[in-house]
Amino acid sequence: MKNTMQAAVVEQFGKPLVIKEIPLPSPGPGQILVKTEACGVCHTDLHAARGDWPVKPALPFVPGHEGIGVVVGIGAGVTEVNMGDRVGVPWLYSACGHCEHCLAAWETVCAEAEFGGYTKNGGFAEYILADPRYVAHIPAGLSATSAAPIICAGVTSYKGIKECKAQPGEWLAVSGIGGLGHLAVQYGKAMGLRVCAIDIDDDKLEHARLLGAEAVINARVGDPVARLREITGGGAHGVLITAPSLEAFHQGVAMTRKRGTCVLVGLPPGEFPTPLFDVVANCITIRGSFVGTRKDMAEALAFAAAGKVKADIELQPLASINHVFERLEHGDVPSRVVLTFV
Ligand code: NAD
Ligand code: ZN
Ligand code: ZN
Repeated sequence: MKNTMQAAVVEQFGKPLVIKEIPLPSPGPGQILVKTEACGVCHTDLHAARGDWPVKPALPFVPGHEGIGVVVGIGAGVTEVNMGDRVGVPWLYSACGHCEHCLAAWETVCAEAEFGGYTKNGGFAEYILADPRYVAHIPAGLSATSAAPIICAGVTSYKGIKECKAQPGEWLAVSGIGGLGHLAVQYGKAMGLRVCAIDIDDDKLEHARLLGAEAVINARVGDPVARLREITGGGAHGVLITAPSLEAFHQGVAMTRKRGTCVLVGLPPGEFPTPLFDVVANCITIRGSFVGTRKDMAEALAFAAAGKVKADIELQPLASINHVFERLEHGDVPSRVVLTFV
């Protein structure tokens, strides 16, 4: 094996990634080395590379948290995976395993959690160092490229829908039909919900219809809140906001039915005003949701392995990453770009 690998590196926030050879890591005790086959490009990678959020990654770093590959190296003491296993290296890279949140199976909010492609180097590279206790186990029959979007966009959508507590037959509004949203429409449908898709791009809405959305709304046309309330007879029981736009958050709360839940998963920097009287008087729940636990991950992958959910992917080489970021920023990626490695 050579001792360097190609990677796309963020050297400065807001600047193009630099494609270069960096040292090939070797797995220490309790670590594994994964040879990357595919890695999805999430809007979070763009936030990371721009330094959008209050807690910034240390520079330089390699983004990417939808990396799928094969285990090619195992450090001392590893028992959870075997050489040759196909695994995914997700956003939740590792957690402490013993704090109050980890003990409650809420490892996603562990204060000692590390994040793939953020606090640890991620999948925009030929190899990824991973913690075998937290990797996703890719079911047989699911290709690396199809699995990639599931390990962030898929699990985040799936968990967010569970958190909105809507029951079969009830309405789910999904705001933002990109990487996360096009999977949320499919998960919602597979979970027995009636889905209304909301975006600002008619092509994305058309796509949502093909994926099973019963109604679609362009958020930039007319009064989208009134329209949704009319379609659903008083608001959606569950609302999932994936759009990286503060305007969508404001609208999403107003689209929530009395006693319904509005789940926030999109992460544009900033804040949005909350209409207190409406939220209080209508007993609305507003809650955040952050990726998913290892159990959520296994469930989200099982939907994909059973063919109930399928990511729409566009394959690109690692070298195209800066162009892909530009397109993502302008809403020009139809669903999900997946980088492939030979
Ligand atoms: P994406 O760029 O693929 O999709 C975003 C979609 O939102 C696009 O279709 C765009 O047209 C649409 N949109 C933009 N403005 C809108 C508006 N005002 N109303 C309705 N739709 C609008 O992005 P993605 O990869 O799906 O990620 C979406 C967001 O979710 C990002 O902010 C990302 O960081 C965040 N995210 C959060 C988690 C989590 O755990 N909470 C996990 C993954 C991603
Ligand atoms: Zn992501
Ligand atoms: Zn913990």
